[in-house]
Amino acid sequence: MNYIVLDLEWNQSGTPEGNNEKIPFEIIEIGAVKLNEDKVMIDEFSALIKPRIYKTMHYVTGKLVHIKMQELKHEQPFEDVIGRFKEWCGNDVIYCTWGPLDLTELQRNMKYYGIDTFSDGPFAFYDVQKLFAIDSGNRADRVSLETAVDRLGIHKDIPFHRAFSDAYYTAKVFGVLKGEEIMDYVSYDTFTPPRDKEHEVHRIFKDYDKYITRTFTTRENLLADREVKSTNCYLCDKISAKEVKLFAPTGKYYIGVSYCENHGYIKTKIRIRKSDDGGIYAVKTQRQITREDAESILERSNKVKETKPKGRITKKS
Ligand SMILES: [Zn+2]
Repeated sequence: MNYIVLDLEWNQSGTPEGNNEKIPFEIIEIGAVKLNEDKVMIDEFSALIKPRIYKTMHYVTGKLVHIKMQELKHEQPFEDVIGRFKEWCGNDVIYCTWGPLDLTELQRNMKYYGIDTFSDGPFAFYDVQKLFAIDSGNRADRVSLETAVDRLGIHKDIPFHRAFSDAYYTAKVFGVLKGEEIMDYVSYDTFTPPRDKEHEVHRIFKDYDKYITRTFTTRENLLADREVKSTNCYLCDKISAKEVKLFAPTGKYYIGVSYCENHGYIKTKIRIRKSDDGGIYAVKTQRQITREDAESILERSNKVKETKPKGRITKKS
């Protein structure tokens, strides 16, 4: 087994009208480092890609990445580069990225060109940005790659913000994170969500539980599913008292709190996601929380209820 630490640079439309919904981020560079099981670098990959969707460089991309359109004109098209890349990766690999986005956008580009994506369902990968945050003791503290490199005192021998260099530094950070405990925190890429109940993902981590549901046709169907909406304790599956009924602080997720006699307060969070082909699925997480946390969630729930629009009279007199 090898690790493939990869990073992408992509370009996008400068205007809403110019945006192609099927491929909002066109990949223009792939950089990667191959590590063996001991996280030692054994090979590298770097390629620029000739763009076909967005022919002008978005000002942010241009400023950050320092690639000019002119330079890309004579490069190979995406299909050729991704073909070489997949061959270079080999079969028995685990992908690693900085942040959760790269594998999803890479597969969106693959699908656009009719190329087989990495898997026909969710697959585990390492989000090194998340691992670094957990290792630093604050999982919500997602820092930039350069900040992580500075904090770890890693020597900065090449400039940042090109695909290869960012993959290289991500690999360096990944190499420092040792210990079985941190390596337990895999992420799941869900560009292709579970196709049926049998392929759903259930995983209990040290301090939380993750459940990735199959796709449903509508949000209503999803939220009507018994397993999806259950707030019972994930540790003992006991019927738990609902302290805060599921509510939606935004349109994207639901939160609730229940109380288990054995395990105390349990927070349930259900994130609603849309798959690339329009299906609705959820990523549900449950974790033990303190009484104070439970109280602050109750407060949020009460606020949401207050701001809900009141019923309106629609009949005209
Ligand atoms: Zn329990």
